[in-house]
Amino acid sequence: HSKSRGKSTYLIYTPSMDIESFKAFELERDLRKAIKQNELSLYFQPIVQLETNQMVRAEALLRWNHPDWKLVSPNEFIPIAEENGFIHNLTDWTLWSVCTTLSRWKEQALPLIPISINVSPKRFLMGDWADAFIRIMEETKVDPALIELEITESVLIQNEEGFQRNIEKLKTLGVKLSLDDFGTGYSSLLYLKKYNVDNVKIDRSFINEQMSKKDCTITKAIIRLTHELGMEVIAEGVETKEQLQLLKKSGCDQVQGYLFSKPLLKEHFEKLLVQPVLTIKEKPKNEMKEE
Ligand code: C2E
Ligand code: MG
Ligand code: MG
Ligand code: MG
Repeated sequence: HSKSRGKSTYLIYTPSMDIESFKAFELERDLRKAIKQNELSLYFQPIVQLETNQMVRAEALLRWNHPDWKLVSPNEFIPIAEENGFIHNLTDWTLWSVCTTLSRWKEQALPLIPISINVSPKRFLMGDWADAFIRIMEETKVDPALIELEITESVLIQNEEGFQRNIEKLKTLGVKLSLDDFGTGYSSLLYLKKYNVDNVKIDRSFINEQMSKKDCTITKAIIRLTHELGMEVIAEGVETKEQLQLLKKSGCDQVQGYLFSKPLLKEHFEKLLVQPVLTIKEKPKNEMKEE
């Protein structure tokens, strides 16, 4: 991995250097080129209605196929992009990519469902981001009601008034707001109170392997709370039939997880648009990797 592809920046890996920081250096150096060099792609993961097993929406998840480091997880490069400001380009590229995909599906007369994208709160730091989003939806002629923005409280929203103004502008057009990783952030309940949230995604850490009594109680309480506030609730990271049963009993609306489908390449995902009722595939853990 010591091969340096940059023309102007070189860092030679030496055994004294920790491999993680070396990787971070290379990722940071190469991120700006990634879009131009077509190294980014979106995977789509189905979200299924619990009553019917029908896919009713999907989440777009970013992947970076780096020439040297191969498939890099967003958990690795999103923080770098948040740090160096490239998150603006990355977010807009993702929205643009989802919108062009949606308009291609429309041309092909495929059934359309809402697609969510993850938006880092850092994206909200720069001026009128709603206008940038609106321009992308207009240019691609995408119905804003097909776009959902997933936000987390991993980074606190700093410019709250700006956020409020921008999000309301988008919501007037039909864009949906989703609260991701619910229950793990700094101010989940405050977000529910302040913003006009459409749905909540219960974090995977509550839907884990052996759901403890505490996990179950918390999950049920989140479901009740969100319903009483008139929102829908989605459980993330559902891997087993037992979890599914429990969520069904607790009145959860929708689920997302390997039990129904891992994130899929666009070509594979398109097939589900026309065959949206999914079947359960419970597999041993080691077979759950993405292609
Ligand atoms: P997230 O938004 O909470 O996305 C859900 C993550 O859980 C995805 O990981 C997905 O592959 C994984 N997942 C789904 N079902 C299961 C399951 O049954 N079991 C397990 N073990 N995992 C499951 P992924 O794709 O690696 O993304 C990680 C995080 O990176 C995302 O968490 C999101 O916060 C961030 N991310 C991904 N794409 C983007 C993007 O385009 N922009 C931004 N800002 N962040 C992104
Ligand atoms: Mg998400
Ligand atoms: Mg999540
Ligand atoms: Mg997450």
